[in-house]
Amino acid sequence: MTAFHDVVIVGGGGAGLRAAIAIAEADPKLSVAIVSKVYPMRSHTVSAEGGAAAVIADDDTLDEHAIDTVSGSDWLSDQDAVEAFIEEAPTELLRLEHWGCPWSRQSNGHIAVRAFGGMRKKRTWFAADKTGFHLLHTLFQTALSYSDIVRYDEWFVTTILVDQGRVRGVVAIELATGRIETIVAGAVIMCTGGCGRVFPFTTNANIKTGDGMALAYRAGAGLKDMEFVQYHPTGLPFTGILITEAARAEGGWLLNKDGYRYLQDYDLGTPTPEPQLRSMELGPRDRLSQAFVHEQEKGRTIDTPSGPIVHLDLRHLGVNVIDAKLPFVRELCASYQNIDPVHELIPVRPVVHYMMGGIHTDIQGATDLAGLYAAGEVACVSINGANRLGSNSLPELLVFGARAGQAAADYVRQLRPGASSAAVEAQGRDEQHRLEGELARHQGEGGSGRERIAGIRTEMQDAMEAGAGIFRDEKTLSRAVDKLRALRERYAGAAIDDHSRTFNTELVATLELSCMLDVAECIVGSALRREESRGAHQRTDFPARDDERYLAHSLVHREPDGEPRFSYLPVTITRWPPGERIYGR
Ligand SMILES: Cc1cc2nc3c(=O)[nH]c(=O)nc-3n(C[C@H](O)[C@H](O)[C@H](O)COP(=O)(O)OP(=O)(O)OC[C@H]3O[C@@H](n4cnc5c(N)ncnc54)[C@H](O)[C@@H]3O)c2cc1C
Repeated sequence: MTAFHDVVIVGGGGAGLRAAIAIAEADPKLSVAIVSKVYPMRSHTVSAEGGAAAVIADDDTLDEHAIDTVSGSDWLSDQDAVEAFIEEAPTELLRLEHWGCPWSRQSNGHIAVRAFGGMRKKRTWFAADKTGFHLLHTLFQTALSYSDIVRYDEWFVTTILVDQGRVRGVVAIELATGRIETIVAGAVIMCTGGCGRVFPFTTNANIKTGDGMALAYRAGAGLKDMEFVQYHPTGLPFTGILITEAARAEGGWLLNKDGYRYLQDYDLGTPTPEPQLRSMELGPRDRLSQAFVHEQEKGRTIDTPSGPIVHLDLRHLGVNVIDAKLPFVRELCASYQNIDPVHELIPVRPVVHYMMGGIHTDIQGATDLAGLYAAGEVACVSINGANRLGSNSLPELLVFGARAGQAAADYVRQLRPGASSAAVEAQGRDEQHRLEGELARHQGEGGSGRERIAGIRTEMQDAMEAGAGIFRDEKTLSRAVDKLRALRERYAGAAIDDHSRTFNTELVATLELSCMLDVAECIVGSALRREESRGAHQRTDFPARDDERYLAHSLVHREPDGEPRFSYLPVTITRWPPGERIYGR
């Protein structure tokens, strides 16, 4: 079967919903579809806790937010993108307020803002510590009010269709029935989020498998800055569940095994000039995660069955602050760690959290493939460069979700692409046959003795942690490249047991694994070629930043034979020449 929409958005998280609303507002005559592998409210955006940064306080300025973002990015962000982002973020957050988002307020009624890592001023808006839930809910209910937005909930997109160099839709499986459908479109916007699941220990939901990055890459679009993977310093040790940076923003301390605030021994680019922010725990995430590894090397972390940990201490904040500002932290600690942070120390360790890299886009969300746009965590605009500052991601998906929606709407209005073409239909049929083949993997060949998907996935994740973790070098990265190549070969021969059509989670896991293998290959390949240390990419064999050779975005395209091709793009510098990463001086 074939459906047609002017614009198809893949992903129903914050970026996807914001893009859909922008299109509906731009032109009610355009038909917009949101295709999402989970019900939109289950997208990862829902789990964001800490908040969204935008200048609102009287003593804050746009320039300061821009400088923090640029220096936080270790000068790898594009400064034109940063300037657009900083300027539009406050309007986007106010718009959300008008759509019903219950931002927390001060007693005088003004928006409350909290401190966040690497931000010299308090500028992070929050809705208690359930910001993502309220933000996503607000966008979802607003999207519901536009009847032109059609939703394909629990449909899994498997490929992007390209005809004569232009993107013309997607193929998707309806998970409830196994029905495979070609959805033709004038333009496609990828809003599929990140790929934390490529690693074994992550804050990311199970659904964050980098599908959109891999599908765009296979369709011919470039992936940018893939070597930059953010570790968050405070995840619960067994589950990887995030303890939000807000816990440190409210005054939490990080203690090593001797109960010592070890961060005072490290250069974090802090302190900030404001006395209330003079907290070393609010250094940028890359430096805090790296400090943890050094503590571990010095034998000053605590060994547990779930790996080495340090402690996050909130006890001195008292029950009132914790219940008013961090109720979700208390809830998570009780449910998943069986402790009460009012009285007990929280065990934490660094955990993979966010991808700075993603589909290469310009400042309007357009990729290097005509008709393909991207926004949110799947995209690399880039405002995050080598290290994202906490609380910049939620406003980013609003600002660039809206921009990508408007740009896609303009594109289809100008081009007026026809409903379909024979070539597109043929590609849709080919994909249908491929998927039928995936479903029948080794059926009837005594498949039960064959290798399983889950084993390959675990080995891939372990190879990524060993090869491309917080610290990397040529040897570990090369080993990961070889391992991934071997895993890809084994993947081709792996079997699945479930050949049914109704909610076949094994089939989904198989398709997701193939995406993760592509993304993993791009991460390690880009990391191997970047012979310097910058932000989240720390090479022990090249410990210094090298602006001479690497003040540049890495870019990877897929060759027709499936091999990655690497190149570099210049970084856009407008007003802030590269300097030392020092906050608030
Ligand atoms: C635990 C946690 C806490 C965070 N806290 C903060 C915070 O406080 N502040 C901040 O700024 N940032 C925070 N972040 C980061 C931020 O939340 C994310 O980067 C952002 O929400 C990503 O939004 P998105 O719309 O790009 O993608 P997502 O919300 O991840 O949505 C992706 C969508 O794509 C769909 N999809 C994916 N693949 C397919 C496919 N093959 N077919 C169909 N649909 C598909 C999914 O169904 C989903 O709807 C946090 C992240 C985590 C993990």
